[in-house]
Amino acid sequence: MRYEGPIYRPPSEADSLLVQVTTGCPHNRCSFCMVYKKGPYYRVRPATEVIEDLETARAQFGSQVRTIFFPAGNTLAAPTKTLEAILVAARRLFPEAYRLTVYGSARYILDKGEVDLRRLAQAGLNRVHVGLESGHDGILAAIRKGADRSEQIRAGRMLKEAGVENSTYVMLGIGGQGLSSSHALETAAALNDIEPDYVRLRTFVPKEGTPLLRKVQTGEFIMAGPHTILGETRILVENMRAAVRLRSDHYTNYINLSGELPHDKDRMLACIDDALKRPESTFRPFFIGRE
Ligand code: SF4
Repeated sequence: MRYEGPIYRPPSEADSLLVQVTTGCPHNRCSFCMVYKKGPYYRVRPATEVIEDLETARAQFGSQVRTIFFPAGNTLAAPTKTLEAILVAARRLFPEAYRLTVYGSARYILDKGEVDLRRLAQAGLNRVHVGLESGHDGILAAIRKGADRSEQIRAGRMLKEAGVENSTYVMLGIGGQGLSSSHALETAAALNDIEPDYVRLRTFVPKEGTPLLRKVQTGEFIMAGPHTILGETRILVENMRAAVRLRSDHYTNYINLSGELPHDKDRMLACIDDALKRPESTFRPFFIGRE
């Protein structure tokens, strides 16, 4: 198996075989993200090379492999023909695998279009992990996400219509103290339109070497504290009508919320209200992320 540059995968892919298809991120502009800021540049590996890695993995792990994740950032941006050949080979080599997944931002979902997404679904792509981060246009522009709210909604729906599961990431606190409530309200509204299969919560932690950390240090961006983040989470959950599986499977979060909406809404709100009774000093301290 050959890897180049940082290899990130969602926590839900912890048990997955990781087979690298691209290096870097073709966007690489999000102001909160440090992953590929020092390189490597975005590059798509030749399908033949990736298939060799799949063959090596088959020889090594055999039928133990049940899920496969193809790093790196925005693998969905790779040419459809390349991805299709890799997915077909993965299905042939790992008939026991029930899930093949990649990262893909709204912009690259829209670039693919529904026809190519359907081709990828037929080749075996089950799920795309999408960074929505926020449904608030001002925040999306400020963090340089590369797609506005309407593009995010169109992309999220397109994925589902093409028959691919949508696992959407929301970043609590990314609007800072000032935009906390509107971030929550606009994000809930966007999620109600997208109706993703999963909503996964992360809490903004400023990362080394990023433009957003510099804004935090100069006071231009005021971090939201634990109680504000919990209040933001409350507004988000309270205003969600879509039927989604909500997870907070990340070390940055102040509490662990998990369940099905709308069924578990009251339980989740009660859990947040309990957490809001705790003094802020009992939650994890502020820190600067280094990876
Ligand atoms: S699209 Fe993802 S990997 Fe690329 S810069 Fe943004 S957060 Fe980082």
